[in-house]
Amino acid sequence: MNTQELDREYVAGTYARFPVTIVEGKGSIVKDVDGKEYIDLTSGIAVTSFGACDEIWYKAVCEQAAKIQHMSNLFYTEPCAKLAEMLCDRTGMRRVFFSNSGAEANECAIKTARKYAADTKGPDYHTIITLKNSFHGRTITTLSATGQDHYHEDFRPLTPGFVHAEANNLEYLKALIDAHKTAAIMIECVQGEGGVVPLSHEYVRGIADLTYENDILFIVDEVQTGNGRSGQLYSYMNYGVKPDIVSTAKGLAGGLPLGATLLGEKVKDTLTAGSHGSTFGGNPVACAGAISILGRINDELLEGVKRKSRILFDSFTGSEGIEAVTGMGLMIGLKTTKPAKEVVNDCIAKGVLALTAKDRVRLLPALNIPDELLVKAAEVIKSCCA
Ligand SMILES: *Cc1c(COP(=O)(O)O)cnc(C)c1O
Repeated sequence: MNTQELDREYVAGTYARFPVTIVEGKGSIVKDVDGKEYIDLTSGIAVTSFGACDEIWYKAVCEQAAKIQHMSNLFYTEPCAKLAEMLCDRTGMRRVFFSNSGAEANECAIKTARKYAADTKGPDYHTIITLKNSFHGRTITTLSATGQDHYHEDFRPLTPGFVHAEANNLEYLKALIDAHKTAAIMIECVQGEGGVVPLSHEYVRGIADLTYENDILFIVDEVQTGNGRSGQLYSYMNYGVKPDIVSTAKGLAGGLPLGATLLGEKVKDTLTAGSHGSTFGGNPVACAGAISILGRINDELLEGVKRKSRILFDSFTGSEGIEAVTGMGLMIGLKTTKPAKEVVNDCIAKGVLALTAKDRVRLLPALNIPDELLVKAAEVIKSCCA
């Protein structure tokens, strides 16, 4: 059997995979088993921040793997401590809990919020408000946080204590805060799986004010939007707000599994020995990879992300078969006249890898994709939309 036949026989059928088997890549070009090359505008869903097998990343990861690949969290390792320092320096947050995925980073955010509320107000202040059309993960609790009902079907009962507010409606939010004993409000500044929909500035600033006034924690899920993708290190920085807790994962370690929950001043001592943990979290190889990525997400790189974003917005806006262009930085959604899935299948046949998010075409290129490749890929996408 070939890879696709083996996979269909033995791997759980949770993914509607495209009929392409990728074997290798370099930067923003990946190659399939037949030697066909593709321009990759997916980055493994915003994971490979500097593309496939980036040399600096690869060297950092291999050097660490040759030293020590894993130690239990009952001992200290340098990459974990150094990465935590870097994340705090860059954000003003105070401490970091490391895990292995976005869902786990959100689980930690939720546990921290519940414990902070229990410690300061009492355990009945446990409600967490999230938004309709949000996505926060696939574990039962992060699924409960996710404000899209179709993900919930077949998995009830869900974790209690989550209510979903309508996005960009502060009055609705105030009513929920009045009706529930609330521990936290959790948002994505750009709803990724929800169709690449940015929240309004007024709304995000309003949430920051409401949470501050009511001593409710403000959690921002930066799993997809984080680590340079929005044109700032974290997308909340585009809104001039300061969350209490930030969760991140996907692009953090450039292609290795790593989640991080950044804890601000209020909650820096909420988690204590024994209150949370992870066997693999803070793994030295993943952290070494992350250090090599984070160290290069500087002003120059972020300017490049914004420039490349403008190239895409300018190229797609008003193009035949494209009804709307949404998003921020290198996280872009296209509302197309043809069904998004059809457009993406056509793009793949023509050598460009793209994704969908709900009814949109979604583009998540590497942060350092060369302009020429980006322009070339955009032309192919436009031809598929027309
Ligand atoms: C992908 C994603 C998650 C879940 O991350 P996993 O690593 O798949 O667990 C959570 N929140 C957002 C916003 C995401 O985009």
